[in-house]
Parts: sequence; structure tokens; C-alpha cells
Amino acid sequence: MINRDRLDALLRRERAAFAERNPRSAAEYAQAGHLFGRVPMTWMNKKAAGFPLYLAAARGARVTDVDGHEYTDFCLGDTAAMAGHSPEPVVAAVRERFDALGGACAMLPTPDAAWVGAELTRRFGVTRWSFALTATDANRWAIRLLRALTGRPKILFNSYCYHGSVDESLIVLQGQEARSREGNVGAPVDVTMTSRVAEFNDLEGLERELAHGDVAAVVMEPALTNIGIVLPEPGYLAGVRELTRRYGTYLLNDETHTFSAGPGGATGAWGLEPDVVTIGKAIGGGIPAAAYGLSEQVAAAIDDIEGLDLVDMGGVGGTLAGNALSIAATRATLEHVLTTDNFRQMSELSEKFALGVQRVIDEHELPWSVTRLGARVEYRFANPAPRTGTESNAAADADLEDYLHVYLANRGILLTPFHNMALMCPATTEAQVDQHEEVFARAIGELTGRADPS
Ligand code: PMP
Repeated sequence: MINRDRLDALLRRERAAFAERNPRSAAEYAQAGHLFGRVPMTWMNKKAAGFPLYLAAARGARVTDVDGHEYTDFCLGDTAAMAGHSPEPVVAAVRERFDALGGACAMLPTPDAAWVGAELTRRFGVTRWSFALTATDANRWAIRLLRALTGRPKILFNSYCYHGSVDESLIVLQGQEARSREGNVGAPVDVTMTSRVAEFNDLEGLERELAHGDVAAVVMEPALTNIGIVLPEPGYLAGVRELTRRYGTYLLNDETHTFSAGPGGATGAWGLEPDVVTIGKAIGGGIPAAAYGLSEQVAAAIDDIEGLDLVDMGGVGGTLAGNALSIAATRATLEHVLTTDNFRQMSELSEKFALGVQRVIDEHELPWSVTRLGARVEYRFANPAPRTGTESNAAADADLEDYLHVYLANRGILLTPFHNMALMCPATTEAQVDQHEEVFARAIGELTGRADPS
């Protein structure tokens, strides 16, 4: 479908334009030799155009770079800024906690934590909450508790899931064979010793693995969101719940991204009944915060384990976790920003976004699909939309993705660097969604060689 010569030429043109347009970002990158990989974190080298844009400022759904360009931000920190950049209620709560009252790291609880625990319970159903600073840690610590509870060694994941740099999760299926995922740097042990893997939407495969009787927990997103969006087929999630109960395996829903489905994530939107929920990124409104919630039954059973140290050295915890600043930011985000009303508006905008993308796909008869989960939309170079992580992974096209990312960036639009994901925040406007459709249509028009259909 895609003429690769044309794509190569366009990509070269767009990269050259990017370099020309962003001299200050280029200079910052050139002089950062004392950073490993020239960036604060090596994944920031995931860039479509040779060097990253450097941030000057961000507010709501807009980002400004050091060259003075303003962007419509559909990346939103890959969900960490789903509340928008520096939303006013969070800024006020952070000022109050850190400046007016003072103190983030006194190692003492604040009353806000109980409010947040009750609010997360109202939204996600599970009733006993603890805090972390990243979703990775929330997952890691919940996994430890579930291993302690069951005495079982293994955790089961969906192939091509992503739950942070959790060692156990870096497992994929190759045919029928479980193996370490590409990019599993410095694995402590062979991942098949700690983990099992099944395809998303495959209940037979799941049962085959659970039947070994050694799986403490299934850790999953209710929809895959890190390999495009892969939605659950009718009956799949109910089947997962039934099988996990039958085989004595706990079910953990990681709602870090699927939070986009609504105020209670996919768990709330679809009436799911996980034993444990983990969530990070957006709940802090831009300040590091994460949480893991246990069902009443799981919390009580853990409490009953004789001699389990959860207070002193333990295997779970972090000095900064649950700090007063993160908790204050989380309360403000949940109370005033990521509210039911705002989710409704974000979801309507993402529907408009998806319809616009579909229109362009249809007009150019591209074999692509667009999938939506509440406030989140993603287009994928496959039609019909993939139904497993492996299928979705096979639809990746790095050059095509880079072309779209650079083309959009050169015209003032940011997508998530790791995929073609667009997210709406409460500050996102209809005009920004229209802007994307217009620029996307031009990018595709140039690519297919047909005039801009609009
Ligand atoms: N869980 C999911 C579903 C994620 O998408 C991510 C990050 N993309 C994480 C966990 C890890 O989050 P963090 O990097 O903030 O620890």
C-alpha cells in the first residue's frame, strides 16, 4: 500500500525541516555529553528526528519548546499528564503543602491519604490502599504481596503487555514458546523461571498456563494499551475472572493507562472484579504518585500470615512513597480535575478524534484501524484491529510511525513517542482535535500521492 521510496524521501525531508526548525533543542542535545545517552533517561532517545525537543513550558494541553514553538500535546506525558499540564487545583494544593504548610518528607501521614484511599475505593471497588511513586513500584510491591499470600512462584502476563520495568513482565510468546522479550536488559534470571505468558483474548492459552498450579497472580491491563490499543473481546474478561478463581490465582488489573476509560478506569466502566488494582502516572496530576489497592479478602488474608514483616525491613516500601506532597497532589487531581464530568468531555473529544482519523483512513483506503478507550485513541497499521499483542506487534512500522510523528511535530502537534497514541485532557479543545485531523490528512495525502482529500 505504502510506496517505500516516497516514504523515505518524505521522512528525510521532514527530518531536515525538524533540524532547521529546532536549533536550540539541537544545541542542548549536543552539549549534554555528561548525561548517559545525552538525555536525563535513556528512553528519551526514542525520537523520530535525531534529537528530542527540549521543554520550556507546559500548561493544560499545550507545550512550548526552547525554540519557542507551541504544540498541541496529545502525548500528555504518555498518560502522566492526562489531567493536563499543571492543572490549577493541583498547583494550588502543591503550593499549599510544600510552601504554605511546608514539608513533603517528614515520614508522617497526612489526613489527605485517608481521603484518597476512600475515593480510590469508590472508583475502583477494592478497599485497602497503599501508595508508591511509580506504577512500576505499585506493580512490584503488589506482586510481592500476592506471592507471599499464595506461596506460588510465578506471575502470568499477556504477551506484549507493558507494566513498567517489572522484571517478571518482560516475557512474550513466540509461537507456543515463552521467551524473554527483546530489550530485557540485565534480566536477573531467565524470565520463564518467574513468569508465564498467554495471548490477550485467548482463554484457552490462559487456562493451559494456569493449570500448572504455580501462578500467584495474573497481572494484566483490561485492554492492552502499550502495543496499540487491543480491546477485550466479548466474554474475555469474564472468562479471565472465572479461570483465575477456578485455579486459585489472584487477578491484578493495572489501570495506569486504562484509567482513560473513565473515573474508575476499565474496572469501573466495565464492572470488573479484580482482587488488586494498581495505578500510577495521572493520579498525581503531574507529581509522582501511584497506588495499589487490595480487596477486603486479600488484605485480610495478608494480615493473617504469621510473621510477615510489612512494617520494618519488609520486602515492600520506599522512603518517599506516600509522601505528603504526592498525596496532596493526588487528592487535588481526583477531587477537582479527573472528575466524572471531565472524563465525559475527554471521551467525547476522543470520539471526534477517532472519527476524523477514520475518515482519512477511509478516503485513502488504507489498511489501518483506529481504536479508542475513553479519552485515549490510537491508530494502527492493520485492519481489522489486532486482537492480540503479538498481532499488534507485527503491525509495527517504524519508518511510517517516525514520518507521522515528525510531520505532526513540524506542524505543532505531539503524539506519544512510543506509538501513535493520542490522549485528551480536560483542557483539550475541539479546535485542537480539528487541527490534528487537518494535519494528519495532509501527511497521508502526501504519502499516498493523492491530493489532500479535504
Ligand atoms: N503500567 C502500565 C500499564 C504502563 O503503561 C506503565 C508505563 N507506560 C507502567 C505501568 C509503568 O509506569 P511508570 O513508568 O510510571 O512506573
